[in-house]
Amino acid sequence: MRRPMVAGNWKMHGTCASVAELAEGLRDLALSSDVDVAVFPSSLHISQVLAGLQGVCIQVGAQDCSVEPMPGALTGEVSASQLLDVGCVLVLVGHSERRQLLGETDEVVGRKFAAAQACGLTPVLCVGETLAQREAGKTLEVVSHQLGCVIDELGVGAFSRAVVAYEPVWAIGTGLTATPQQAQEVHAAIRLQLAAESAEVAAGVRILYGGSVKAASAVELFGMPDIDGGLVGGASLNADEFGAICRAAGN
Ligand code: PEP
Repeated sequence: MRRPMVAGNWKMHGTCASVAELAEGLRDLALSSDVDVAVFPSSLHISQVLAGLQGVCIQVGAQDCSVEPMPGALTGEVSASQLLDVGCVLVLVGHSERRQLLGETDEVVGRKFAAAQACGLTPVLCVGETLAQREAGKTLEVVSHQLGCVIDELGVGAFSRAVVAYEPVWAIGTGLTATPQQAQEVHAAIRLQLAAESAEVAAGVRILYGGSVKAASAVELFGMPDIDGGLVGGASLNADEFGAICRAAGN
């Protein structure tokens, strides 16, 4: 039985004041002990959020890490070991905004995934197709390639200590959500691809859906057999809405 997970990606949002307010709102939520909840603030605010959430069962992660696992001469980057040192337990890798806007390749994503695991962080591997790729009927091919690059490099066993997030690019921040059936089809294909190498890993890995998830859409999405929770962007900036999404994952 996989434990549901709901994670909030705060992206490049927040000031010290708004982050403090959001953490305060999260502290007040009545969260189910059956759901793992995590938030991903900007690197600048990680320590503040960790302090603000002390004693609360919400994990804190980073939105990215360097390809180099250990500290060194790499200006502007943050290593996975540094993230672990401040108290992170998770890190997003391969978010579509980084792939698309910052040119992150599958090779770079694989190296970040490996760096995270080498330091004891759990990577959340984001995969997903663009609208053009979906319309060209290439969704499963694109997602399978993104996943396959990491499997080929690190082996399927790496996914026993990782989370996968299926995030169709056309649904991120657009207000368009994949239907539960569309999402389920891709989640099932991801699990099948992992099962071809290890049935045990495939059965245990959590696959989150991301793309304009709101409390109103969460119940149906999370009710699908291969959807184990959500990676939530915009709606995670509102503590009450995020709490409602977390509750949907516990039902
Ligand atoms: C995301 O950025 O991971 C995301 C899913 O964003 P949104 O929920 O705003 O679409």
